[in-house]
Amino acid sequence: MATAGEESQTQAGRHQEVGHKSLLQSDALYQYILETSVYPREPEPMKELRDITAKHPWNIMTTSADEGQFLNMLLKLINAKNTMEIGVFTGYSLLATALALPDDGKILAMDINRESYELGLPVIQKAGVADKIDFREGPALPILDQLIEDGKQGSFDFIFVDADKDNYLNYHKRLIELVKVGGLIGYDNTLWNGSVVAPPDAPLRKYVRYYRDFVLELNKALAADPRIEICMLPVGDGITLCRRIS
Ligand code: SAH
Ligand code: CA
Repeated sequence: MATAGEESQTQAGRHQEVGHKSLLQSDALYQYILETSVYPREPEPMKELRDITAKHPWNIMTTSADEGQFLNMLLKLINAKNTMEIGVFTGYSLLATALALPDDGKILAMDINRESYELGLPVIQKAGVADKIDFREGPALPILDQLIEDGKQGSFDFIFVDADKDNYLNYHKRLIELVKVGGLIGYDNTLWNGSVVAPPDAPLRKYVRYYRDFVLELNKALAADPRIEICMLPVGDGITLCRRIS
């Protein structure tokens, strides 16, 4: 049993607000961010791609506009040139990346579904950044193994992982070799709809429940990994930045 001292310490370390509907204090606050700082500065092609994606039956998977803005600035801040994306869907985060990279920048992009990528491709072409993208259709894992076999260790400045959550730890094993020391890996959806703190009997949608355990396991493993520094941001559905230090 916890002593009174331990109890109050736990309380003190705990976030005080209750009743959050989202990661933010209110939906209105999120809307405020979008309308004040994100939408007015969103590049036209990204807006166009966001509109196209909104009509897709799986539109829930897309990267949010505020996260797109964040990724775009992050890539510029770290001067990223050689990057990778696992999980493209219609390409919103891909376009945010492509627009941030210099003319000779590269993105190795993979997805098992080419169709959704091709839905966004005309917009990416019109934006003049399609040449930076090397799209590979298929599961990412064998592609990563091939990159390692080809000696591409330490060659990526930035890697964005936004695909099958049950494979994130398998990806991490390989990505930690492929990213350069000082480079970044971003794991997306690490707060998994808030379900990481849901009680065991909470009514969760099937896929949310299924992937939750993998996300929980990933978060623990990243926090314990001495090869990286981490920073978990409550942007979008949660993004954990990992900076390789060894
Ligand atoms: N980053 C995207 C969203 C990705 S959604 C955006 O900004 O819109 C997740 C994507 O992961 C889906 O398109 C899905 O087809 C893809 N995916 C699922 N399993 C995969 C795998 N094993 N390898 C590569 N892609 C995968
Ligand atoms: Ca995502």
